[in-house]
Amino acid sequence: MNVSGILPFARELLSRCIPDGGVAVDATAGKGNDTLFLAKLVGESGHVYSFDIQEQAILATKDKLQLHEIEQRVELIHDGHENLEKYLKLNHKGLVNGAVFNLGYLPGSNKEIVTTPDTTIAAIEELLENLVKGGIIVLVIYHGHPEGAVERDQLLPYVRELAQEDYHVLEYRFTNQQNNPPFIVAIEKR
Ligand code: SAM
Repeated sequence: MNVSGILPFARELLSRCIPDGGVAVDATAGKGNDTLFLAKLVGESGHVYSFDIQEQAILATKDKLQLHEIEQRVELIHDGHENLEKYLKLNHKGLVNGAVFNLGYLPGSNKEIVTTPDTTIAAIEELLENLVKGGIIVLVIYHGHPEGAVERDQLLPYVRELAQEDYHVLEYRFTNQQNNPPFIVAIEKR
């Protein structure tokens, strides 16, 4: 397939905006796959903030990073991504290069623990305040489960209203696939 799939496209966007030595945020650590990817992108002198409200996700992410011996460039935060401001270091304010949200529930875990539109939007707002120009927030929206559809229906109007003078907002999705496959919303600060 020559067209990028959803997850590869999310990573392409993150690779474009996060330089060596950069600052990145994984808003939903889960099993740590995105955190590991971001940690490699920022290199030895960069910094990744990785959030999750579930302890098991934080522990799984920690294990993954230790296996790859790059845990020192990642700050694992057992708290909601909506509290980003509380953790962002002074010298990183306004200097976040990229962030990713994989919304929904942690596969293989309690499906009742899901991301919610209010906290997701609160976190996006804090990130928008702190992005560099050219910085990108990538949202991977899973709307095949009931709470995911609710989250989609609140997120889309919010992102579509962001001022076009300030942000490029992109939706990337396969429109002919069955069963509500995930899609991407990306917000780039201009
Ligand atoms: N990116 C992950 C990976 O690579 O495995 C998958 C993330 S999973 C789809 C969504 C995660 O978001 C869950 O682990 C859940 O605990 C977490 N979550 C839900 N609400 C959150 C919040 N307010 N702040 C941070 N994490 C949250």
